[in-house]
Amino acid sequence: MFPKTLFAIVSVVSSLAALVPVTRAEAPAGATPLTKPGPPKSIAPQVPVVWKAGAASVVVTPEKLLSMSGYSSRKTPAVGKVQELFAKALALEDEAGGRLVFVTLDLIGVPQTLRRTIAARAEAEYKLPQANLVLNASHTHSGPSMRTSPLTEKDQENPLARDAFEYTVKLTDDIVAVIGKAISELQPARLTWNKARCGFAMNRRRDYTLPPEHPNANKAPNPDGPVDHEVPALRVEAPDGTLRATLFGYACHNTSLGFFNYCGDYAGFAQQYLQENRPGFTALFLMGCGGDQNPYPRRSDVVPGITDLELAQQHGRALANAAEMALSVNPRSVTGHIRAAYEEITLDYAKPERAPHQYPVQVIKLGKDLTFVTLGSEVVVDYSLRFKRELAGTAGIWVAGYSNDYTGYIPSLRVLKEGGYEAAAGWADSVEDRIATKVHELHARLSE
Ligand SMILES: [Zn+2]
Repeated sequence: MFPKTLFAIVSVVSSLAALVPVTRAEAPAGATPLTKPGPPKSIAPQVPVVWKAGAASVVVTPEKLLSMSGYSSRKTPAVGKVQELFAKALALEDEAGGRLVFVTLDLIGVPQTLRRTIAARAEAEYKLPQANLVLNASHTHSGPSMRTSPLTEKDQENPLARDAFEYTVKLTDDIVAVIGKAISELQPARLTWNKARCGFAMNRRRDYTLPPEHPNANKAPNPDGPVDHEVPALRVEAPDGTLRATLFGYACHNTSLGFFNYCGDYAGFAQQYLQENRPGFTALFLMGCGGDQNPYPRRSDVVPGITDLELAQQHGRALANAAEMALSVNPRSVTGHIRAAYEEITLDYAKPERAPHQYPVQVIKLGKDLTFVTLGSEVVVDYSLRFKRELAGTAGIWVAGYSNDYTGYIPSLRVLKEGGYEAAAGWADSVEDRIATKVHELHARLSE
């Protein structure tokens, strides 16, 4: 056991400083008193209040101890929780009454059936166009398994299957309700955005460019591999400057943890830290293209005396810090109208006898200032880097994976040709080209 006092001293000079609980600093006796935090004020009063925004959240931690999702090696159900899991919704309304809702989930993924059911219900109950709904999952590996398909007769006798199905039915209702709650909370708002950087994501694949005899050829993670360290953050403030919500993103697997407790992993902690000391404020995490990215350092045996949970908290603190930076520095204005397009394209598998998959591609523009590209399932980072490069212009480009579908890894052509874990789903070589063609088509359509 590492003595806590020693740890506190050492950590001041180490990169693990974020593990020490933050206490409010006091000036020593006789020293100049520290400046007290002032009342809330806008960081961009010149940006007009042209939006309405509303945020809501609901706890979706299962009441029962369900099978956990993410690692096939875990054969027994959850034993407890260290943090609540949330479904959160951010509703935006432009001056013409156009609406957009982001739903973020501390869960492994968004099964396609769940997306379709919720999109249809939100359209029927709230008149929300299906293209104007984003459902994104943080990909925490410390959440429950879901079950969208009806139970077979055999499953009826399996309590874990039954519980997973009942959980998913309730989750569906909870998400529809939280969308309605966010819409009902719409209030005048000022929107700005910016981005910062956070460095704990590393490309987890080996370096396939090295010849087999190279000493590093079979070593992973790969510090030279592609990463997307940007942390974009949308700032939603009340007219008086009070921060009401943020949508912030990062591209990295939520796999600091591999235990049997419900937890949002680093993304759960980042949201928790951002919300601390801000009553009534909602932080929503939008997962990026982290299919081939893992958080490092990873797993307790690599950092003496530090548990997996503390590593998750450290990464959460690092990400929260980056989001705070993006929320407070040189705000870029977001005005204009919401335009959204959502289509499902056909992705083929390499084996022609295998049925193709209908894959969701979504582009959303907030005026000429900010453009979201959302893609289904476990998208590798090449997509994020590619679209930010190819669509670069006056608008910021924000690319999210893990949205509206959960059907395994989506490799780029490079990753597919190299092989390895993220290439194993068996897609045809056309996968990247089909997705990119549709992204450009929707982007061009919304830019007319
Ligand atoms: Zn994954």
